[in-house]
Amino acid sequence: MDFIVTSSKRPGAGETVLGESFKTLPGGKGANQAVAAARLGAEVTMIGRVGDDVFGEEILKNLNLNNVNTDYVEPVTHMESGTAHIILAENDNSIIVVKAANDEVTPAYIERALDVIKGSDMVLIQQEIPEESVAYVSNKCAEYGIPLLLNPAPARKIDNQIIENSAYITPNEHEAAILFDGAEVSASLRKYPNKLFITEGSNGVRYFDGEKEVVVPTYKVEALDTTGAGDTFNAAFAVALAEGKLLQESLRFANRAASLSVMKFGAQGGMPMRMEVKATL
Ligand code: ADP
Repeated sequence: MDFIVTSSKRPGAGETVLGESFKTLPGGKGANQAVAAARLGAEVTMIGRVGDDVFGEEILKNLNLNNVNTDYVEPVTHMESGTAHIILAENDNSIIVVKAANDEVTPAYIERALDVIKGSDMVLIQQEIPEESVAYVSNKCAEYGIPLLLNPAPARKIDNQIIENSAYITPNEHEAAILFDGAEVSASLRKYPNKLFITEGSNGVRYFDGEKEVVVPTYKVEALDTTGAGDTFNAAFAVALAEGKLLQESLRFANRAASLSVMKFGAQGGMPMRMEVKATL
């Protein structure tokens, strides 16, 4: 759950300021991606956890409203739901994330959902869960032959085996620098042709096709709030690939969905329905 405060001034240490507005909005990379994929027409099952609090109920309600199957989103007792505390002030944001219940998405917990993974066309995973869980899912996907799309966000150095196990990896520029130790973007791309896709905001997405670097440009829109752009991109990319669309077409679809998402406020607020993407492609 995102707690969003807007203020003209960011408080310093020990300081109290009067803010202008406050909102709670469902968020979190995993939930955002699940909602975006469901709106784009995919049959989505989320594997995650919420806390034993009012936010947990709200989060589940929101997932269900968006047609996301929550059979594997169990509440953790005596623990809070994952929250992000966002201050929008002075034309920038500062955020504190408390992972809480997300840390209980352990390999032992995920094991209960292996049949869902086995029966899927595509698994989409992000990193607001323990690293060992990402490793576990990547191993299982490799074992079952299920394509894994890893969105390596928030960024951290990851085991090479996870990269090997992934079919697609989609960092933004900042995350790519952390993932590959600040190596030249071109060198990293060359190492993983048709596998590593670096998103570049209003520029679109860059990859190496085996012969040359390719940039698939995104669409020109009036950007109001880019929160969740990456989540929408990842979900749309996964949906298109799972449907068997070719790479370039999948990237155009992802750019289109993500560009539509930045035109409205909030991470999930602007995530388009399938029809809206179709109408504008
Ligand atoms: P993140 O949101 O993870 O930081 P990016 O900023 O790279 O990732 O954005 C992800 C994708 O969202 C981009 O590749 C692009 O398709 C789309 N996007 C982001 N910002 C804009 C924008 N201002 N105009 C159009 N598309 C955008």
